[in-house]
Amino acid sequence: MDLKELYRDVILDHNRSPRNFGKLDPADAMAVGRNPLCGDKLDVTLRMEGDRLADVRFQGQGCAISVASASLMSEAVKGRRREEIEQLYQQVHALMTGHPGSADLGKLAALGGVAEFPARVKCASLCWHTLNAALNDTRAPVSTE
Ligand code: ZN
Repeated sequence: MDLKELYRDVILDHNRSPRNFGKLDPADAMAVGRNPLCGDKLDVTLRMEGDRLADVRFQGQGCAISVASASLMSEAVKGRRREEIEQLYQQVHALMTGHPGSADLGKLAALGGVAEFPARVKCASLCWHTLNAALNDTRAPVSTE
Protein backbone atom coordinates (compact mmCIF):
# COMPACT_ATOMS: atom_id res chain seq x y z
CA MET A 1 0.00 0.00 0.00
CA ASP A 2 1.52 3.32 -0.96
CA LEU A 3 1.29 6.47 1.07
CA LYS A 4 -1.54 7.92 -1.01
CA GLU A 5 -3.72 4.87 -0.46
CA LEU A 6 -2.90 4.88 3.22
CA TYR A 7 -3.93 8.53 3.51
CA ARG A 8 -7.11 7.91 1.53
CA ASP A 9 -7.97 5.07 3.90
CA VAL A 10 -7.42 7.32 6.93
CA ILE A 11 -9.81 9.93 5.46
CA LEU A 12 -12.43 7.30 4.59
CA ASP A 13 -12.18 5.72 8.01
CA HIS A 14 -12.56 9.02 9.88
CA ASN A 15 -15.43 10.04 7.64
CA ARG A 16 -17.25 6.76 8.21
CA SER A 17 -16.70 6.62 11.94
CA PRO A 18 -15.83 10.08 13.17
CA ARG A 19 -14.06 10.17 16.55
CA ASN A 20 -15.30 12.45 19.32
CA PHE A 21 -18.55 13.03 17.46
CA GLY A 22 -21.32 14.64 19.50
CA LYS A 23 -21.74 17.40 21.97
CA LEU A 24 -20.35 18.05 25.44
CA ASP A 25 -23.01 19.09 27.90
CA PRO A 26 -22.14 21.01 29.93
CA ALA A 27 -19.33 22.57 27.94
CA ASP A 28 -17.03 25.46 28.75
CA ALA A 29 -17.36 26.88 25.27
CA MET A 30 -18.83 26.23 21.88
CA ALA A 31 -18.67 27.64 18.39
CA VAL A 32 -20.44 27.03 15.12
CA GLY A 33 -18.59 27.01 11.82
CA ARG A 34 -19.89 27.15 8.28
CA ASN A 35 -18.30 26.74 4.89
CA PRO A 36 -20.99 28.02 2.51
CA LEU A 37 -18.93 27.17 -0.57
CA CYS A 38 -19.38 23.48 0.12
CA GLY A 39 -22.28 23.45 2.59
CA ASP A 40 -20.22 22.13 5.49
CA LYS A 41 -21.50 23.01 8.92
CA LEU A 42 -20.21 21.90 12.28
CA ASP A 43 -20.18 22.87 15.89
CA VAL A 44 -17.43 22.32 18.41
CA THR A 45 -17.90 22.05 22.16
CA LEU A 46 -15.04 21.84 24.59
CA ARG A 47 -13.96 21.65 28.19
CA MET A 48 -10.85 23.26 29.57
CA GLU A 49 -8.65 22.43 32.51
CA GLY A 50 -6.68 25.62 33.02
CA ASP A 51 -4.74 26.13 29.81
CA ARG A 52 -5.31 22.58 28.62
CA LEU A 53 -8.06 21.34 26.33
CA ALA A 54 -9.48 18.58 28.50
CA ASP A 55 -12.14 17.34 26.09
CA VAL A 56 -13.58 18.22 22.72
CA ARG A 57 -16.51 17.05 20.59
CA PHE A 58 -17.82 18.08 17.24
CA GLN A 59 -20.96 17.41 15.31
CA GLY A 60 -22.46 18.55 12.08
CA GLN A 61 -22.83 17.74 8.45
CA GLY A 62 -20.48 18.16 5.61
CA CYS A 63 -18.39 16.55 2.94
CA ALA A 64 -16.05 13.66 3.67
CA ILE A 65 -13.04 15.95 4.00
CA SER A 66 -14.67 18.30 6.50
CA VAL A 67 -15.87 15.46 8.71
CA ALA A 68 -12.62 13.47 8.52
CA SER A 69 -10.59 16.59 9.22
CA ALA A 70 -12.66 17.42 12.32
CA SER A 71 -12.33 13.85 13.55
CA LEU A 72 -8.56 13.81 13.03
CA MET A 73 -8.26 17.22 14.66
CA SER A 74 -10.27 16.16 17.70
CA GLU A 75 -7.89 13.27 18.33
CA ALA A 76 -4.82 15.43 17.81
CA VAL A 77 -5.75 18.37 20.03
CA LYS A 78 -7.27 16.65 23.03
CA GLY A 79 -5.11 17.11 26.11
CA ARG A 80 -2.96 19.81 24.52
CA ARG A 81 -2.35 23.35 25.68
CA ARG A 82 -3.63 26.35 23.69
CA GLU A 83 -0.15 27.19 22.54
CA GLU A 84 0.46 23.68 21.22
CA ILE A 85 -2.88 23.70 19.41
CA GLU A 86 -2.03 26.99 17.73
CA GLN A 87 1.31 25.60 16.66
CA LEU A 88 -0.26 22.41 15.37
CA TYR A 89 -2.74 24.40 13.32
CA GLN A 90 0.07 26.39 11.69
CA GLN A 91 1.77 23.13 10.72
CA VAL A 92 -1.42 21.54 9.41
CA HIS A 93 -2.33 24.66 7.45
CA ALA A 94 1.11 24.77 5.88
CA LEU A 95 0.75 21.12 4.93
CA MET A 96 -2.69 21.65 3.39
CA THR A 97 -1.50 24.57 1.32
CA GLY A 98 1.40 22.62 -0.10
CA HIS A 99 4.18 23.73 2.22
CA PRO A 100 4.76 20.76 4.50
CA GLY A 101 7.30 21.28 7.24
CA SER A 102 9.44 18.70 8.95
CA ALA A 103 7.14 18.16 11.94
CA ASP A 104 5.68 14.69 12.35
CA LEU A 105 1.94 15.26 12.19
CA GLY A 106 0.92 11.63 12.57
CA LYS A 107 -2.45 10.86 11.03
CA LEU A 108 -3.02 14.55 10.31
CA ALA A 109 -0.53 14.07 7.49
CA ALA A 110 -3.39 12.41 5.61
CA LEU A 111 -4.80 15.90 5.02
CA GLY A 112 -1.80 16.77 2.88
CA GLY A 113 -3.72 15.47 -0.13
CA VAL A 114 -6.04 18.48 -0.10
CA ALA A 115 -3.15 20.67 -1.24
CA GLU A 116 -3.96 19.43 -4.75
CA PHE A 117 -7.54 20.70 -4.42
CA PRO A 118 -7.53 24.31 -3.21
CA ALA A 119 -11.32 24.42 -2.76
CA ARG A 120 -11.00 21.54 -0.29
CA VAL A 121 -8.63 23.46 1.94
CA LYS A 122 -11.64 25.39 3.25
CA CYS A 123 -13.43 22.14 4.03
CA ALA A 124 -10.41 20.79 5.89
CA SER A 125 -9.70 24.02 7.79
CA LEU A 126 -13.29 24.66 8.89
CA CYS A 127 -12.94 22.58 12.06
CA TRP A 128 -9.73 24.39 13.02
CA HIS A 129 -11.31 27.83 12.63
CA THR A 130 -14.30 26.66 14.65
CA LEU A 131 -12.10 25.21 17.38
CA ASN A 132 -10.18 28.46 17.51
CA ALA A 133 -13.38 30.46 17.91
CA ALA A 134 -14.46 28.17 20.74
CA LEU A 135 -11.06 28.46 22.44
CA ASN A 136 -11.27 32.25 22.30
CA ASP A 137 -14.72 32.09 23.78
CA THR A 138 -13.33 30.48 26.94
CA ARG A 139 -10.93 33.28 27.79
CA ALA A 140 -12.02 33.70 31.36
CA PRO A 141 -12.90 37.21 32.43
CA VAL A 142 -10.10 38.90 34.27
CA SER A 143 -10.41 38.23 37.97
CA THR A 144 -8.59 39.96 40.74
CA GLU A 145 -9.29 37.12 43.16
ZN1 ZN B 1 -16.64 20.46 2.20
